Amino acid sequence: MRGFTSTKTSIRSRILLTSLSILLIASLIISGAVFWNYDNLTKEALQTRVRIESEIISQNLATSILFDDVNTALEILSTYKADNAILYVKLEREDGSTFAEYKRITFKPDDTNVFNFREEVVFEGKNIGYLNIIVSKSELHDQNLALLIFLGVILCIVTLVSFALSSPIIKSVLLPLLRLHEISQKIAKTRDYSLRVAVESADEVGRLSNMFNQMVEQIEHRDDMLEKQVGQRTHELEKLAEEFRFRAFHDSLTGLANRALLNERFSLSMQHAKRHRNHFACLLLDLDDFKTINDTKGHEFGDELLIEVSKRLCTTIREEDLVCRLGGDEFVIILNDINEIEDINMIARKILAQLNREFTIKGDSIRTAASIGCAVYPDHGENISTIKRHADVAMYRAKDAGKNQFCLFSQGMQEDVKHRLLIQSGLRPALDGNQFEVYFQPKVNPLEGTVVGCEALVRWNHPKEGFLTPDKFIPFAEEVGLVNEIDYFVIRDCCATMSEWTKIFRQPIPIAFNLSGRHFHDYKIVEVLEKAILDFNMDPSMLEAEITEAVLIEDPDKAQKIVHAVKSLGLGISLDDFGTGYSSLNYLRTLPIDTVKLDRSFIMNIDKNAQDKRLTRGIVSLAKGLNLKLIAEGVENESQLTTLLNLGCQHMQGYYFLRPSQKGDFVQWYLRYHSLPRALAEKK
Ligand code: C2E
Ligand code: CA
Ligand code: CA
Repeated sequence: MRGFTSTKTSIRSRILLTSLSILLIASLIISGAVFWNYDNLTKEALQTRVRIESEIISQNLATSILFDDVNTALEILSTYKADNAILYVKLEREDGSTFAEYKRITFKPDDTNVFNFREEVVFEGKNIGYLNIIVSKSELHDQNLALLIFLGVILCIVTLVSFALSSPIIKSVLLPLLRLHEISQKIAKTRDYSLRVAVESADEVGRLSNMFNQMVEQIEHRDDMLEKQVGQRTHELEKLAEEFRFRAFHDSLTGLANRALLNERFSLSMQHAKRHRNHFACLLLDLDDFKTINDTKGHEFGDELLIEVSKRLCTTIREEDLVCRLGGDEFVIILNDINEIEDINMIARKILAQLNREFTIKGDSIRTAASIGCAVYPDHGENISTIKRHADVAMYRAKDAGKNQFCLFSQGMQEDVKHRLLIQSGLRPALDGNQFEVYFQPKVNPLEGTVVGCEALVRWNHPKEGFLTPDKFIPFAEEVGLVNEIDYFVIRDCCATMSEWTKIFRQPIPIAFNLSGRHFHDYKIVEVLEKAILDFNMDPSMLEAEITEAVLIEDPDKAQKIVHAVKSLGLGISLDDFGTGYSSLNYLRTLPIDTVKLDRSFIMNIDKNAQDKRLTRGIVSLAKGLNLKLIAEGVENESQLTTLLNLGCQHMQGYYFLRPSQKGDFVQWYLRYHSLPRALAEKK
């Protein structure tokens, strides 16, 4: 933290350390003074002692010098023996010649730990000689050492006593602060904001404690509110996610399973059939003349009829089977554990009989019929798309044969297979021969009358089959691994178009392209995008990749990394067909998504269906919360548009504005659409 000298030592230890240091320094100074004084005193005492001794002795020595009695002098000098400090004594005559000497055995002439002393020998006021004495200082050293030890012991005792006394004193002074610290630590650790510190005094610490408590109270209050809000929001989100998941796997009109659940159950049935080495049947059922009923009796009547048909279908099949509505009047029925073809025949007949019985809808009686096609796994195909296609072929056979019939697929009905081969073999030449064409559909903000971008949608001008929309060839291109190349073509076309349009519109218009799940196995797509951006000198933020949740199915970790790599090139990422898969709201957080495209199936009945309205409102608010752009797909009429605007959805795409169009048509429309609000504003 800035302006804060970080130290881990507690205040208590610091105060203790400071006071002890001060005490120690003071004690050292005092000890030093005492020692110095003592040293002087002992030195003086020694000198005085030697002087007094020498004064007495020099009086006796005067007679020895006078009578030239060396022996007596030596005897007198030997009295110095009694004083250990005297090492050497020399008695000199007045002229400086040596008269007598005393030398202690321990005396060494080179000893430096000594001082010299000189005393005159006087007789009747006249100087008759000198007494030169060498005095040892060891006595002083011993005394000083003893004093030092004493002072050292005293210092230790003082330090220990001070420590023992100051520690609890400091603690008692700091206690309120320490408690404050302890409580704040506890709060930080446990996030228990109900904790308070006791206020025991009115001094600064007491005031600080009071303020601390007030602060914690405020945080507690805010935390409570936040927790309640988060709880409520989480509950709402969970409910929304659950509804989305149910909605994603069920048809909103009949409550039957939908295409997504069918795909899932289809895989399970396949595994089950493989394990038990038996078969399952896929029935495709289409009501005969439903369009006429809808046109003559109205949509509501048609919807009621579909609900009743669903109920009858459910009561006819076994619990382990599945009825699913694909949309419109198309149903798929999965019959598990089939051993005999006759079993399928019997159930199909039962279904037809049930549907032929009279329905009473809104007080009206009506009869209906259906055409049923059937393909069996694994005899008629080993994957869902083949089985469904073959069931479809059989169903059209049933319709051709006069409706209200059941028809089982047989290898003879091979037009479908031929078609597939025709498409698959034509893909490569189409790529080389420029047969693909990119159409564009605008994304608009109808309130502001602005075009916020457009989506590139590929078309195939097939030399034999004519104009083909992607659903007729993208699945086959995915099967043979050519979809990637189609997408690369679309990406480069988008870049070229962007440069062209920037000149026409005088501003770039964001273009989105679709990426098949096949791209998310390796990083090639990242390289291709990088190269395109460089080649066309593009602003990458004007490009957007539309992906679906399906890209994450096989290897979610890798796919996520590739999505992140695409994003880091500077492109926008759109989550396409939202609401049709697992609708994991989690993806909205984990993937670097900028835009969510709400699937067309939500918009279709949004003006009538309360559930779709509720879910759309939920996703609008979620997108706002996560700062994501939301686009409603498939807006076809004014009623859907108004409902969406009322729900707070601002960006839309759909036939109501413009169908996917060729470049030239798109430019014409764009110029018209853009001049419209301006013209209106000018009129006003
Ligand atoms: P998508 O990405 O969900 O594209 C939107 C589809 O909805 C387009 O179908 C568009 O024509 C259609 N649509 C738009 N507005 C409306 C409307 O108001 N009503 C109705 N009924 N439909 C509307 P399209 O062009 O047939 O494309 C179908 C799918 O094929 C796309 O779905 C996308 O998943 C895929 N696709 C299209 N172009 C490409 C491509 O270049 N590469 C890849 N990998 N897939 C593509
Ligand atoms: Ca798309
Ligand atoms: Ca879509």
